[in-house]
Amino acid sequence: MAKKTRRGQKQCPKCNAWVKGTRAKACPKCNYQFNGKQRVTPVVEAASAEKPPKAADTVTISQVKAVAQMVNTVGGFDRFNELLGVIREVGGLRRMKDLLEAMSAAQVGTTAV
Ligand SMILES: [Zn+2]
Repeated sequence: MAKKTRRGQKQCPKCNAWVKGTRAKACPKCNYQFNGKQRVTPVVEAASAEKPPKAADTVTISQVKAVAQMVNTVGGFDRFNELLGVIREVGGLRRMKDLLEAMSAAQVGTTAV
């Protein structure tokens, strides 16, 4: 059986239950005694666990919802990717915004007539 690992957890070899805390002495399910052979690296784990998430890395539900709605609006992921390609082609978001403004201005002009 392949031994799997999970962050901050270890698997009981007797009942296969995941035990929280790599330094646990016994399995809470079957009371299996871990012999302590495993090398634990608490310093590395504590450091990575305490690292606060950067704001840019954090994906919020409202962001996901906004993008999902945009994907729906343009007609699916393929179309959305096309759109992103066009934005890149015209030279970025700011340029795209200028073009859109010019377009909407032209549209207002034609419909007003
Ligand atoms: Zn167990």
